[in-house]
Amino acid sequence: MTDRPTDPAPSLFGTLAVIGPGLIGSSILRRARRDGTIAAELVACDIDPAVCRRVAELDIADRVEADPLRAAADADCVILCVPVGAIATVGARILPAMKPGAILSEVGSTKQSIINAIAPSLRPDIPFVPTHPMAGTEYSGPDAGFATLFDDRWCLLTPLEDTDPAATALIETMWHRLGARTRIMDPAHHDRVCAIVSHLPHLLAFTICGTADDLADETRSEVLDFAASGFRDFTRIAASDPVMWRDIFLNNREALLEMLARFMEDAQAMARAIRWGDEAFIVDRIERGRRIRRSLLENRQA
Ligand code: NAP
Repeated sequence: MTDRPTDPAPSLFGTLAVIGPGLIGSSILRRARRDGTIAAELVACDIDPAVCRRVAELDIADRVEADPLRAAADADCVILCVPVGAIATVGARILPAMKPGAILSEVGSTKQSIINAIAPSLRPDIPFVPTHPMAGTEYSGPDAGFATLFDDRWCLLTPLEDTDPAATALIETMWHRLGARTRIMDPAHHDRVCAIVSHLPHLLAFTICGTADDLADETRSEVLDFAASGFRDFTRIAASDPVMWRDIFLNNREALLEMLARFMEDAQAMARAIRWGDEAFIVDRIERGRRIRRSLLENRQA
């Protein structure tokens, strides 16, 4: 006698629509396809017909729509995966078309400015659950995504005070099924944390590559010929999408400038220690860096 097959876990959503199937959006679709318990139907939507064609070729959605209103109309959950500067505009467009009780979510890398911008368009019958998966690569577009992108990564959720807790719980469960760990956070706190762990490192990477590029031709050829691992690591981060990072910098202006000011003070302290041969200070700073790297490895975040 064979065991009866166990019923598959029920889907969280009937229809899940992903608007902007780029790196993050297509990774959600790929994982949801593979997992099978996130949504019974997956819909992808992009304003660019070439992206729509590519998503259809990749076969990562059951339906591909060029019109966001059509994509949103039957969805039980819509996730906006477009650049930060476009999230509130696209949200305002689709909200009137959404069915009552459906959930609106988004994955932007900043939170407070998105919440402020979308607030006037929100509907009392559509819970809004902002999220930020702390996972990514320097690549963009539907070909860049992969099903394991979120494995063991954090996804930070910043629900509003009046967001229905049941909707937040559903989105949290969705992120667990996408492979991530979750944490609920205040939006302003999120923006300060991300300014230091993500936005400032990108600012430094873009700047150091610019500085190297400004050097004389002879030096520049040496930079390219002999780029050691430190510089190579910066160039990987600096290869990120310009529109995405322009939007992130402008939308997290205050927190980013605050972290940059703190960093510049600390860099000045290091410069002073180097000037005066303060060996203990220099060694202390390097050891702190090594400790942080070790703890990231231990937490499987490196
Ligand atoms: P991406 O690969 O460039 O994908 C963005 C997608 O949105 C593209 O398919 C783009 O289409 C589409 N799009 C742009 N403007 C649109 C509009 N007005 N209406 C509909 N679709 C539009 O970017 P991504 O890296 O996935 O980032 C998406 C979001 O995730 C951003 O808000 C970003 O801050 C956030 N995020 C990114 C990372 C990361 O490391 N990459 C990590 C966490 C969160 P076109 O190609 O036609 O412009």
